[in-house]
Amino acid sequence: MVNFIQNAIEEDLKNGKYTEGIHTRFPPEPNGYLHVGHAKSICLNFGLAEANGGLCNLRFDDTNPTKEDTEYVDSIQEDIKWLGFSWGDRKFYASDYFDQLYAFAEKLIEKGLAYVDDLSAEEIKAYRGTLTEPGKESPYRNRSVSENLDLFRRMKAGEFADGEKVLRAKIDMASPNMVMRDTVIYRIAHAHHHRTGDKWCIYPMYDFAHPLSDAIEGITHSVCTLEFEEHRPFYDWLLDALDFDPMTRPRQIEFARLNLTNTVTSKRKLRQLVEEGYVRGWDDPRMPTISGLRRRGYTPAAIRSFCEEIGVAKANSLVDVAMLEHAVREDLNEHADRVMAVLHPLKVVLTNYLEDKEEWLRADNNPMHGGARYVPFSRVLYIEQEDFMEEPPKKFFRLKPGGEVRLKHAYIIKCEEVVKDADGNITELRCTVDPDSKTGGKTAGRKIKGTIHWVAAKTALDAEVRLYDYLIETDADGNVPKDFIGALNQHSLETIEHAFVEPSLLHTAAGTHYQFLREGYFVVDPDTTPEHLVFNRVVGLRDSWAK
Ligand code: ATP
Ligand code: MG
Ligand code: MG
Repeated sequence: MVNFIQNAIEEDLKNGKYTEGIHTRFPPEPNGYLHVGHAKSICLNFGLAEANGGLCNLRFDDTNPTKEDTEYVDSIQEDIKWLGFSWGDRKFYASDYFDQLYAFAEKLIEKGLAYVDDLSAEEIKAYRGTLTEPGKESPYRNRSVSENLDLFRRMKAGEFADGEKVLRAKIDMASPNMVMRDTVIYRIAHAHHHRTGDKWCIYPMYDFAHPLSDAIEGITHSVCTLEFEEHRPFYDWLLDALDFDPMTRPRQIEFARLNLTNTVTSKRKLRQLVEEGYVRGWDDPRMPTISGLRRRGYTPAAIRSFCEEIGVAKANSLVDVAMLEHAVREDLNEHADRVMAVLHPLKVVLTNYLEDKEEWLRADNNPMHGGARYVPFSRVLYIEQEDFMEEPPKKFFRLKPGGEVRLKHAYIIKCEEVVKDADGNITELRCTVDPDSKTGGKTAGRKIKGTIHWVAAKTALDAEVRLYDYLIETDADGNVPKDFIGALNQHSLETIEHAFVEPSLLHTAAGTHYQFLREGYFVVDPDTTPEHLVFNRVVGLRDSWAK
């Protein structure tokens, strides 16, 4: 692993820090499902530990009881495992430390470094000042240690209502860093916690809980996204104040969060899509959640290789979603079997092919791995509507009246007649087959420009196929507008109720990948039953990502 964080780790080791080894953590808040941005953080944290022979913890950052739920705890674990990472026996919860954190808070008070403030949230905000103006000290700032201890204990005992008091660090109301202006470290919330129940009615804030949870767990490198750069001085201040040894205590290092074109990567926004019914759930194949990507047919290997490819930067940028698509296309190109499916069927009758004849033709599964299956061929076939044009432009090398085309793995056919209904819609093509044009046949080598896919009507399986487009319409650069709900793509899902697939897919299982020849990569959706096949298109075949 080569990146600036790895360099910093090597520098620390060289300077004699962290002699016990490197220890990272992935700290999700269980308030939603993980998304592709979290995948980057997971790959980075577990990857750094692995690269340095260290350890990586999974820590649920569950200090915000009203928004958190065990449903999310479960999904987060499932997603990390699916991505291929393991936390072993190192699964922790910030809520496990509530007693210790409380004790640390009392210690800060005793040192004169924290005070109970009666100002309201709005007042605190107003007193905080601006970037150009220093803040104003709260009238409660100089309470005595004993008064602060007493009030803090009464906060814990439930004597006050939500919002009535907070505990603040006592630092510097004139600091150019807004976080250092006496940031709030405990608040009152009479709320049920998914793990600690009703034991607590005060909860630590992120700025307080996070550095201390890191220190308690022996984390050495606390890797987080750039928004927290401004919080780093407080991270260090707090650990200093509580006497953690600079040679062993954790340090925070920030990296740029992943932003993708055409994609929202914010749990809050993703939750809105789910709760307001714009998608079918957190695992809707259009969602950039890990569960959505999984259902869409993304593979763990593709997501990991994408994270590797984009690297780790110190400045925010926007990554082209085509890069993510490129990664899954590469993986599936190597691993997915090729099969034939006709999405928009047009009937073809081979007039010179016997009515009850059936042949099984050899078809290779994947040119990279060999392997083959047999597909049935008979008198009535389906081809793709798009592969026939009655009045084609010059360079149309598929089927046209009087023209010839090769059927993949099979024969050359010639279009002799176009049959239409009363409204002039084409309902059927009547074609002849060149009986010697099969592989190994006398005329197999005849030069025919176009090759198309097909399925035999008698044995074809009916299938539902779901084609996806981006969930959100963006500007030309792929930036998601502020009003992302207003920019939802009304055509992000196209359902084909009756496509036809070759019979080899009869006993396929959810999660199996295929390349439908000429149509793209597909995966079997969990909605599939033995009576009703459902496929999702993962990506098309054409790569829009140029390296
Ligand atoms: P969101 O804004 O989507 O709610 P979050 O940062 O609040 O994300 P957490 O559950 O706190 O979500 O995130 C766990 C870890 O994943 C954090 O260390 C966070 O920095 C990291 N992370 C979250 N989003 C991204 C992203 N887009 N790119 C890289 N890392 C991310
Ligand atoms: Mg967070
Ligand atoms: Mg968040």
